[in-house]
Amino acid sequence: MSDDPETARQIAELSRDSRPLLVVDVDEVVLDFVDPFSRFLNSQGFDLLTDSFRIHGNVVALDDGKAIEAESVAALMTAFFDAQETWQTAAAGAVDTLGSLAPRLEIVLLSAMPHRHRPVRRALLDRLSLPYPLVSTEAAKGPAVSMIRGGRERPVAFIDDIPRNLESVARSVPDAALFHLMSHQGFRALLPPLPSGAVVLRDWSEAGARIAKELGVSQST
Ligand SMILES: [Mg+2]
Repeated sequence: MSDDPETARQIAELSRDSRPLLVVDVDEVVLDFVDPFSRFLNSQGFDLLTDSFRIHGNVVALDDGKAIEAESVAALMTAFFDAQETWQTAAAGAVDTLGSLAPRLEIVLLSAMPHRHRPVRRALLDRLSLPYPLVSTEAAKGPAVSMIRGGRERPVAFIDDIPRNLESVARSVPDAALFHLMSHQGFRALLPPLPSGAVVLRDWSEAGARIAKELGVSQST
């Protein structure tokens, strides 16, 4: 059971699908985040440094290069998520690869973000041809993935760019296949260690065959 009642409510609305399950993170996995957020910051007079794996502490003012306070970073992130339809793009290959898997899997997008951003994200995903159900959560991802699986005996794969989310799913769904995928190449080089057993995907072009094999399904061409 997810610790987040709104997440649990959203999951209860999903169809009772019994096919193999693929749960996919959104930011930096199906949507680019770091590059669009950098462009958004530039438009507001700020910049994002990408020489360490974090956002807070890495947002600097363009005029003096000084890092801004955590509260200001949080406000800019909120403004960015409000305006995401203007800025965010689909990660290269995500639409085609998910489309090739969709006939044989249940695909659910799981985004760790304030619930209030869900409607605008839904509209953006639909416009980008990513029509899969979107679940938002303000709590750990592992219990949410377990709840989406729904107690049914079916294989599960989970893709995320943040190691702690992979760890959370490893704890809650020990038999889940874990994949790491990150759109931004610069941040990827600075990643903290991944949980053991997590498979690194270079990009979506190699993801389809790996996921299909792991979940025991074929991939449409
Ligand atoms: Mg992410």
